[in-house]
Amino acid sequence: MDISVVIPLFNEEESLPELEAWIRRVMEANGFSYEILFVNDGSTDRSMDVIKEIAAANPNVHAVSFSRNYGKSPALNVGFARAQGDVVITMDADLQDSPDEIPELYRMITEDGYDLVSGWKKKRYDPLSKTIPTKLFNATARKVSGIKNLHDFNCGLKAYKRQVVKHIEVYGDMHRYIPYLAKNAGYKKIGEKVVQHQARKYGHTKFGLDRFVNGYLDLGTLWFLSKFGVKPMHIFGLLGSLMFIIGFFAVLVVLILKCVSLCSDSYSFYVTNSVYFYLSLAAMIMGLQFFLTGFVGELIARNSPERNNYLIGEEF
Ligand code: UDP
Ligand code: MG
Repeated sequence: MDISVVIPLFNEEESLPELEAWIRRVMEANGFSYEILFVNDGSTDRSMDVIKEIAAANPNVHAVSFSRNYGKSPALNVGFARAQGDVVITMDADLQDSPDEIPELYRMITEDGYDLVSGWKKKRYDPLSKTIPTKLFNATARKVSGIKNLHDFNCGLKAYKRQVVKHIEVYGDMHRYIPYLAKNAGYKKIGEKVVQHQARKYGHTKFGLDRFVNGYLDLGTLWFLSKFGVKPMHIFGLLGSLMFIIGFFAVLVVLILKCVSLCSDSYSFYVTNSVYFYLSLAAMIMGLQFFLTGFVGELIARNSPERNNYLIGEEF
């Protein structure tokens, strides 16, 4: 099979028939063998009924349905697990992404040898409240991930070599950073294609403003995981040691100053009279806690399924 189109959807009943007809037209015009995999993310409208009607008329249409709304990332993950095509293409269900981009995306994966090609909605048809923070968000993501050539990390329209989607795990809200996940998994050839974008025709966006806060938090998590995911002691141990050493020497200094002041008039016998003593003590305790966090992190990392998961480039 040439192409699997994976479409996560949550309450998109109006768009689905148009979307399927459009994809079918493109596939038939180009002679691709394909499947359309709808992943219904717990829709409460008629989406599932509509998909059943579509599937009855087109045997290339398949569906998985969640019992409740889990989110776009879990939906993509399930779609990726089922996809059988040589090239896997994801797109949103709301007709904002154009299926006309499929042939060129397919060509870039199969002929140009990209592992992943992300769409770039260069001209966007979204409200300003979304496009401006998105620019900032993408600039940060470029910097943190080191994938310098991507302008639009979270574009729903993306194409992958099948191997890539089988190798990465999208969870939580990590669909925003799939290129980063792919890079961390060892896939280096990540490209971009300017794609057509349309305003939402039916329904409304399923993400609120919290997307930006969560987006930044997730980026921090991914950065942390890529640096210290399997060796947490390297960061917590360092922080812990630094704090402890600073605290320890600060206590010494407090004690020495006490001894020196023995001769002066303002002599007070108890070190506990000094506020610096407590600050130093706090630093030592925090240092120890960082250290213990590092040990617990190591225990968890020891059992992580990722700890020995390497992508082999070549072997002789
Ligand atoms: N979506 C989903 N589960 C969710 C939220 C969204 O499957 O919990 C789907 C949604 O139906 C659409 C795609 O993810 O197909 C992108 O969502 P949306 O168009 O609302 O996002 P936006 O274009 O505003 O970024
Ligand atoms: Mg949309």
